[in-house]
Amino acid sequence: MSGTPRYRFAPSPTGYFHVGGARTALYNWILALQNDGVFVLRIEDTDESRNEPQWTQGIIDALAWIGIDGTDTHFEGPYFQSAYAANQVAAAEKLFASGHAYYCDLTSEQIHDRAKIAGRPGYDGFSRDRGLTAGPGRSLRFRVPAGVTVVHDEVRGAVEFDNTTIEDFVLLRGNGKPVFVLANVVDDITMNITHVVRAEEHLPNTPKQQMIWAALGATPPSWAHVPLLVNEQRKKLSKRRDKVALEQYRDEGVVAEAMVNYLMTLGWAPTGDTEIVDFATIVKDFKLSSVNHSSAFFDIKKLNAFNGEYLRQMPVEAFSAACEPWLTSDKAPWPADRFDRGVFLRIAPHVQTRVAVLSEVPAMVDFLFLADVVIDAAAFDKAFSAEWARPLTQSIHDRFVDVEWNHDALKIAVEAIGAASDVKLGKLQAPLRVATTGRSVGPPLFESLEVLGRNETLRRIDAALARAG
Ligand code: GLU
Repeated sequence: MSGTPRYRFAPSPTGYFHVGGARTALYNWILALQNDGVFVLRIEDTDESRNEPQWTQGIIDALAWIGIDGTDTHFEGPYFQSAYAANQVAAAEKLFASGHAYYCDLTSEQIHDRAKIAGRPGYDGFSRDRGLTAGPGRSLRFRVPAGVTVVHDEVRGAVEFDNTTIEDFVLLRGNGKPVFVLANVVDDITMNITHVVRAEEHLPNTPKQQMIWAALGATPPSWAHVPLLVNEQRKKLSKRRDKVALEQYRDEGVVAEAMVNYLMTLGWAPTGDTEIVDFATIVKDFKLSSVNHSSAFFDIKKLNAFNGEYLRQMPVEAFSAACEPWLTSDKAPWPADRFDRGVFLRIAPHVQTRVAVLSEVPAMVDFLFLADVVIDAAAFDKAFSAEWARPLTQSIHDRFVDVEWNHDALKIAVEAIGAASDVKLGKLQAPLRVATTGRSVGPPLFESLEVLGRNETLRRIDAALARAG
């Protein structure tokens, strides 16, 4: 074996790509980059009832989105576990030949009944010394030796397992199919994997897998089990309860750099005084031994705060480019041809500081691109409920006819009208805002009107005055 460290990420394509999987993938990727090693992507597609090609493509796309793909020479794969079935069966037969495994013909009901009578759950080793050979319906089981198995885990230190707590586990099912613990190890051996960094839920499999490595005459890898991600109630993130799909965050307009940075702060922290750091710094600083043992809270509010920070740091042109998928596709509420990049660039600096995710952008700028502004009726009625609202908005209209058209001049004009009637600027803006943008919130009003232009602004105020009747 060469001295190149070989990491792997081995997802099962059974659903959307989980944020926890993304974090595990990043750990492996970063370690591979850090150590000039290899990151192997192996799709564990052996659960035929749950796999679908769309999930495999989803994983590949999501990994590419966070920067993990074959454009980098450290990436290898994807390999598909199903292609290695013959190899896994051959390894099982080798374990049988060497006496590390034996066949058993008990059905699961029989095993269950025996356990019930013995008052001890699990398989009792009934066929250990019966000398059975392979045959239909016979499963192959690993002969777990007496003693203790110590797993040296880079995150958790030495974890000891008393072998009496591990039953003689199945390697091949009665139908001859390899089970996960076997297939996973045999593929790791075949792919010369030296480091297994994976989710904590696999820790109970590890002593079994370490025994298989040794029984096959291979040197077990270095292990690391990464703590769980939990929700606000400290419950394991679940597909049913929580928003766990990486794709969903991408589609809502979290940018990849922010996602990567945020995922890496779950259970680990960069050395400096800020958690917002670039990828090169993460690659330089990350250490498995500094990963926290306890589960990490996947805090969507914090992720959004990170994302907002990333958006604000972007040059405005880059921000505008990142927004475009939301502004020029069917995600936008206006026909694509009404979008005008020049107009958007003028308002973009004010939008950039006010959104957490890019999907919030269309609603902030729709007044510039919709042919007819959509008025929020409740906001409109509220804004025009004050007695002064209509007459003062009329005065604003009249003043706007010939005021110099820039935000400073517009603001001074509105302020003066308010001062003359003892209405504060903040209040006076409310009817003007809803009249011209349809909403009660948005980017700064006078900057917005500057971009909207005199004619359209006057036209909308006219329409609002008519509506307020
Ligand atoms: N296919 C397993 C899973 O998705 C991966 C196990 C491993 O990383 O060893 O949980």
